[in-house]
Amino acid sequence: MVDIAANCRMIFDRIGAAAARSGREAGAVKLLAASKSQSIEKVRAAMAAGIRLFGENYVQEALAKKAAAGSAVEWHMIGHLQRNKVKIAAELFDVIESLDSVELARALNREAAARSRTVRALVEVNLAGESSKSGIDKDRVPPLLDAIASLPHLKIEGLMAVPPLSDDPEKARPYFRMLAELNRNLKRREAANIHLKELSMGMSQDYEVAIEEGATLVRVGTALFGPRGK
Ligand SMILES: *Cc1c(COP(=O)(O)O)cnc(C)c1O
Repeated sequence: MVDIAANCRMIFDRIGAAAARSGREAGAVKLLAASKSQSIEKVRAAMAAGIRLFGENYVQEALAKKAAAGSAVEWHMIGHLQRNKVKIAAELFDVIESLDSVELARALNREAAARSRTVRALVEVNLAGESSKSGIDKDRVPPLLDAIASLPHLKIEGLMAVPPLSDDPEKARPYFRMLAELNRNLKRREAANIHLKELSMGMSQDYEVAIEEGATLVRVGTALFGPRGK
């Protein structure tokens, strides 16, 4: 049995140390538990260990987990969001981290408006131009933000990215740096509903490197929960 409380303490320690290396307080970096394919018991153990942010990749799975674990925590959508799931996603999630097109932004805005609410979101950027991955090309982020500025039921809180997979965390560093730089360059595009403060980057393998490069939110799955089930 995986000791989630112990893993959690270790990860919080490492987050604190990496934040210190980047001249920040431990509290400047949030830990999100990437709970896809992990049981509800494990989600509850993570809640008991003090985790307040959970990330899911599939709408149906998130629906079941939120029903079982409750809404005392925040639920983030971190997987690709299909157009036919926008309606339910607008109700279910506190934050959509995978906003990556104008069409999706318009659809989310429409569903949020219909519910008289605001949907919080991050723009997912495909940094390496990998065709197999979701996320918007980094050159297309400025026009996306310009379009979102006139969608008042959306609130953009920052950027998210998943760099190319590698066994070596150092290989991800240039991509983390790229996202942080993009974020700085986009500051002048901020608007009433666009505040670029969150950088969601870093996973089990490389979250410490991501924090050194400015991550404010790391998404950790297997290092917290152990290997994913089927
Ligand atoms: C699964 C997943 C994670 C967590 O991955 P681990 O390597 O298990 O930490 C983080 N972000 C996204 C978008 C994911 O799909």
